Amino acid sequence: MEMSYQSMKIAHQAREAEDLRTVMRRKSLLILIYHHLLGQGYMEAAAALDQETNGDARKFEVCDNIDLEMVLMEYESYHYVKFQKNPKLIRRTVEPVENRFVKSGGVKRSPCSAGKRLPKINPSKRPESGNGAKKTTTSNGSSVPPEMSDFGLNVSSIRSGPAGDVAGDVAMNRKERLLKPLSGFSGMNREMSELAEIISRDIYLHSPNVRWEDIIGLEDAKRLVKEAVVYPIKYPELFTGILSPWKGLLLYGPPGTGKTLLAKAVATECKTTFFNISASSIVSKWRGDSEKLVRVLFLLARYHAPSTIFLDELESVMGQRGASTGGEHESSSRMKTELLVQMDGLVRSEELVFVLAASNLPWDLDHAVLRRLEKRILVGLPSSAARQAMTSHWLPPLTSTRGVELRTELDYETLAKDMEGYSGSDIRLVCKEAAMRPVRKIFDVLEAHQHEDAHLPTIKLETVTTADFLEVIAHSKPSARNLTDRYTAWEREYESL
Ligand code: ADP
Repeated sequence: MEMSYQSMKIAHQAREAEDLRTVMRRKSLLILIYHHLLGQGYMEAAAALDQETNGDARKFEVCDNIDLEMVLMEYESYHYVKFQKNPKLIRRTVEPVENRFVKSGGVKRSPCSAGKRLPKINPSKRPESGNGAKKTTTSNGSSVPPEMSDFGLNVSSIRSGPAGDVAGDVAMNRKERLLKPLSGFSGMNREMSELAEIISRDIYLHSPNVRWEDIIGLEDAKRLVKEAVVYPIKYPELFTGILSPWKGLLLYGPPGTGKTLLAKAVATECKTTFFNISASSIVSKWRGDSEKLVRVLFLLARYHAPSTIFLDELESVMGQRGASTGGEHESSSRMKTELLVQMDGLVRSEELVFVLAASNLPWDLDHAVLRRLEKRILVGLPSSAARQAMTSHWLPPLTSTRGVELRTELDYETLAKDMEGYSGSDIRLVCKEAAMRPVRKIFDVLEAHQHEDAHLPTIKLETVTTADFLEVIAHSKPSARNLTDRYTAWEREYESL
């Protein structure tokens, strides 16, 4: 159908209005930044900005109710999404140049180019295991104590190894670039550091301490997660161009099957900075601030790259829009948009920041978020062999803790058969309950001895038998058996290769 002259004119005007709005928005940001720079004595940078606004910057005042720190961050996000690099902010030199040169490992480079230098493959220098806090050694041989970030996060302990060395340099450069220019705003700083404090307390996990071998079964899921996240961190040269790493990964499947364990194993084995947030807590605790929280979270993750952001229970924030409520709270919708924008920013960058999301109800997820979680991995219920391995892991023939011995005589194969449909966490609960049975029987004896003020008798627990265990199984229910078909159907429809 041909467009009438009138409708073409309207469309043209609308486009012009939109362009004008964008220009105005950008201009007002520049004006705000101009006054800030001027106030802080960054004369050269202010003059450059003034030129860019054709002298407009001087004609306007900064309103005192404007959240300048957020405006700066917004400007950074906008610049980043549009040009895939951060704006270059300049500040007065306070330290002699030589000192800074030493701090950045002797390599002088612009803050913007820092993120592009990726680790080299060096088989003799792979990340070691162990989470102990280490001293960082600079390229000139001197060692510096574990670094405390401006937000009070001690991140150096999980950032050693080849990827970590570069991350150290990158973080050092970012500190110059992102945080220092913001320090003049005490009011704003308080807000930002409050959010960063929340992140460090509730979201940043110092040492997840989960090894691949701690995860029983799930061989396929482990392989896929390694391919998608671990190898790109270890061997970055192999993952360029068409092979550039996935930035968003969805782990989906029944509850209690090991999704969180997998995410923690990535963080432990790759020594990435690990941010663990349950999506429902963003909504319930930080409703008003959730959008800013998400922004600061991603900012910190980039600052401390390589990082993993683990978003648990994703469906609780990224459910299909308006599906359950028939209309969304405005702040929650802004937060979703922020999350999507931040994830887009990651896709376009070369920084090693990965979003690992977990969902028990993938069919409830918004399509916009699914598109950004390109790699999807089913973390299913344990196989019969895995159920057997779990039972013998949690209830071996003999365990001895603090002088109390627990013996078992279990037919692991039969038990595994009887626990079909149980998740890892269900099996752990059943094992715990089975172990509790003989302990429960001796409580009366223990209590009686306490009253008599006598010495405790030598504790000998009854052996846990297959029959005991089967009885516990009979009284328990697997939490997700009836959803198995739904996961497989969803896998067929949505899983990437
Ligand atoms: P979710 O899939 O809900 O994230 P988690 O990873 O939090 O489940 O697992 C919950 C608990 O269940 C774990 O802390 C662990 O004790 C047990 N568990 C579940 N799956 C496994 C597994 N494959 N190997 C070892 N433990 C497991």
